[in-house]
Amino acid sequence: MFEGLTEKLSGIFDGLTRRGALTEADVTAAMREVRRALLEADVALDVVRSFTDKVKERAVGANVVKSVTPGQMVVKIVSDVMVETLGSDAQPIDLDAPAPVAIMMVGLQGAGKTTTTAKIAKRLVDRQGRRVLMASLDVKRPAAQEQLAVLGRQVGVDTLPIVAGQTPVQIAQRAEQAARLQGYDVVMFDTAGRTHIDEPLMAEMAEIKGAAKPHEILLVADSLTGQDAVNLAKSFDERVGITGIVLTRIDGDGRGGAALSMRAVTGKPIKLLGTGEKMDALEDFHPSRIADRILG
Ligand code: GDP
Repeated sequence: MFEGLTEKLSGIFDGLTRRGALTEADVTAAMREVRRALLEADVALDVVRSFTDKVKERAVGANVVKSVTPGQMVVKIVSDVMVETLGSDAQPIDLDAPAPVAIMMVGLQGAGKTTTTAKIAKRLVDRQGRRVLMASLDVKRPAAQEQLAVLGRQVGVDTLPIVAGQTPVQIAQRAEQAARLQGYDVVMFDTAGRTHIDEPLMAEMAEIKGAAKPHEILLVADSLTGQDAVNLAKSFDERVGITGIVLTRIDGDGRGGAALSMRAVTGKPIKLLGTGEKMDALEDFHPSRIADRILG
């Protein structure tokens, strides 16, 4: 995902670190190249601007020009600013609420919602020993509920028995009750997607939120869609309110812009990354590790 950007940045940094002394003009020129590399990686314009401004400001403040190893100093500043842009600290899924803790998954069709629901459930069971119940609230696509049941069997996580003819809210209420009565720690709601954001989708999400009272609302967004994913997150947050983001298809050949812009534009943390189709292809989002990966 980040290879193109990494290659360009390391070229710029090589140029900087090879020189003994730097003038302010050298730093400005390097920042112009960094700016171009970030824009080519599809990072949002505002994020790029604030990124390079911060680096320049700190480079001047740190008196990089007079520093013993000026190039390395600039690289260190770029790395620090990148970690801050990505969100500074890892933000795990928050289960700190009375059981059953409800997690609602939202997003467009095909983003990887159902897959990610099962991946997260598996991880909560395997790594944290939680008892998890999953329920699909997608009554639009006939096969959706069955798809979650199949994945549930595959990863060894229970799914709510399917009852035909119920509305999403009725299913959510039944799932909450089942989870409560049967002593589950977590109940996960996989919601219906659409090909694009529309009013009925947002209204349905708001209604489900009212019924399910989720502690976490995770937006699943496809990182290959770049800035569209960022705009999507903004819209979902404004209309429904999200608590975090899962970026999928990090294993694909996207340009990384979504990962870099998401936090700065939406103010909401990326919590997890989907890195493949397999059920264990899920990674925690560690800003410093991602910055290291990007900076090569
Ligand atoms: P939904 O419509 O949002 O529920 O999407 P699905 O969960 O059905 O996923 C759509 C397709 O994307 C499936 O073929 C998944 O296996 C695939 N998929 C989901 N997450 C990832 C990921 O992180 N990487 C890759 N390569 N494929 C993924």
